[in-house]
Amino acid sequence: MGTDLKSVLITEEEINAKLAELAATIDEEYAGKDLLIVGVLKGAVMVMADLARALSTPVTMDWMAVSSYGAGTQSSGVVRILKDLDTDIKGKHVLIVEDIIDSGLTLSWLLSNLGSREPASLNVCTLLRKPEAAKVAIKVKWVGFDIPNEFVVGYGLDYAEKYRNLRFVGTLAPHVYGG
Ligand code: 5GP
Ligand code: MG
Ligand code: MG
Repeated sequence: MGTDLKSVLITEEEINAKLAELAATIDEEYAGKDLLIVGVLKGAVMVMADLARALSTPVTMDWMAVSSYGAGTQSSGVVRILKDLDTDIKGKHVLIVEDIIDSGLTLSWLLSNLGSREPASLNVCTLLRKPEAAKVAIKVKWVGFDIPNEFVVGYGLDYAEKYRNLRFVGTLAPHVYGG
């Protein structure tokens, strides 16, 4: 796995098994309904691709790109839309698909933004969640894994745009980020 990585936190097999589990309950929830899944670029591309294929429910897919102002690894909570949805979500069942929820600030902004567009329903599925997210009052219906408060990469998640294509989720060796 190369010397940049400290350890594998979640293996490819564990991710696949978890997505199958989540997909089964998502299928139950949306049985007989039209579902639009919304991926938040760029981190959610892998989860979107694999979750969508694990679902039996027919879905349409759309994407948003948002950016938190402020540099570094901390979210500022001030969010700017880089790419909006292509579709009008009014009256639609919408599921936001996220890679990770850390402070929850990005997601809480996204929920109020999309919520104001009057979807029929609005839920969230995230592969990963850090303990800090529990401090923000957001309702996340589907969570893959609660993970320790460490910076993780892989399976869509980057450090300086690298490591997104790893098949697993891992932690970085301190020398990579100057630790
Ligand atoms: P939040 O607003 O919840 O604090 O931040 C969410 C965003 O911060 C994620 O979509 C992701 O881009 C980034 N982020 C938070 N924690 C991590 C992490 O451990 N690793 C990586 N690569 N990105 C993270
Ligand atoms: Mg994300
Ligand atoms: Mg990033």
